[in-house]
Order: sequence, then structure tokens, then C-alpha cells
Amino acid sequence: MNDHDHRLDALAARIGECTACPRLVAARRDVAGEDYWARPVPGFGDPRARVHVLGLATAPHGGNRYGRAFTGNRSADTLVAALHRTGFANQARSDHAGDGLRLAGAWMASAVRCPPPQHRPTRAERDTCLRWLTEEVAALPDLRVIVCLGRTAWEAACDWAGLRPRPAFGHGAVRETKSLTLLGCYHPSPQNTQSGRLTPAMLDDVLRRARHLAARGLPLDHEESA
Ligand code: SF4
Repeated sequence: MNDHDHRLDALAARIGECTACPRLVAARRDVAGEDYWARPVPGFGDPRARVHVLGLATAPHGGNRYGRAFTGNRSADTLVAALHRTGFANQARSDHAGDGLRLAGAWMASAVRCPPPQHRPTRAERDTCLRWLTEEVAALPDLRVIVCLGRTAWEAACDWAGLRPRPAFGHGAVRETKSLTLLGCYHPSPQNTQSGRLTPAMLDDVLRRARHLAARGLPLDHEESA
């Protein structure tokens, strides 16, 4: 393990001890079964990631159970299958922390690392937790693109990046920050996939576009919207 990996491990340990939001400290335990992680969930992926996939909040019976972002629920199944199809993941399943999943060139995390009731963090909780996004991004030196899953993740990322006025969310929307590209994507929730709002092809297209934007590494000179 090199110094870089040590830095990410140390950061993950600090995230896992966070108790900054009393309501969410209670929530992550209230929903937990005996074998649940029930602590904040750090990001997961490739330390040399160029693409970050950002969700809104830890799932109560997904990440909160298994201690790994996008693991053990249907949204995770959809996302990781797409990451596999587009060459970012070594397998199409994300079942539990010991399932052998590895990412190549990608990182995934939530803006809010604990599971909020009704999946709705308060603005204060969201803003408090964005400190960890700042630290993880700083620890990922090759990062170029953040794929924001859903409007609320997009808004969190835009506010985190200080974009004013906040640009409108759209599937395929692109906005530059000083150092990164934000790319909007419908959330891979069962509601969106079952209704056909988000198809596997649409998700694959966004991930391929993220790879392309990250490889280019140059800021766009205009806002795009698909
Ligand atoms: S939501 Fe984030 S800031 Fe709040 S307790 Fe959990 S890890 Fe800490």
C-alpha cells in the first residue's frame, strides 16, 4: 500500500467515526439490524479514479448495512451493472463488501454519508457532510468528472462547487467548475428504471460521456444540456 492509499484509508476511518449530525447518527442506528454497519459510509473505488459517481445519501438497507457505497440494493444493482458494461467495474453485481467488486477509473460515494429519514437530509445536514466530499476529492488527484445521480445530488455538487446561480439539473447536463466537470444523470432508482425514465442505454451513455470528458481533461467553454 502506498502513501496515497494510506491517505484514503485514513480518511475513510475518520469518516466512519463522524457524529456531526445528531439526527442522522440516530437514524443510521434506528434502521439497523444486528449485522448492519450503521456508521457513515466512505467512498469506494479506484484511488486513481477520473470519474466520481455521486449519489445523494446512503441507503438505509444498502450502504448502511454493508458499509460500502452503492451496495446491496436495486439502485446499486443498476448502477454497478452499467459501470461493468462501460468498463469501470470488474463485475456487474454489488451485493456486499466482500463480493470482490473492484472499480477501475471510478469512485462512488454519497453526498450525505448517513441514511436520512425518508431519504431527505436537511440542508444543514447536507452541507455539513459535504466536508467529506471536499476531503475525498482532494485525495483523488486524477479526478476530472463528477456524475451526479439525480437532481438533489446535482444541487449538492453545484452548491459544494459554489456555482451561482445554481445551474438547472437535466439528464446529460454539463457544467464546469474551477477544476472539475459536473455531469447530470437521472438517479438509477427502481422508480426511474421501471418507468423507463432511465434506461440501461441512457445510463451507459452518461458513463461513457464521463469517461470521454475525463480523458479530455479540458474545461468545456459552454454549458451543454442534452
Ligand atoms: S451525515 Fe455526514 S456529517 Fe452528518 S454524521 Fe453522517 S457522516 Fe457525519
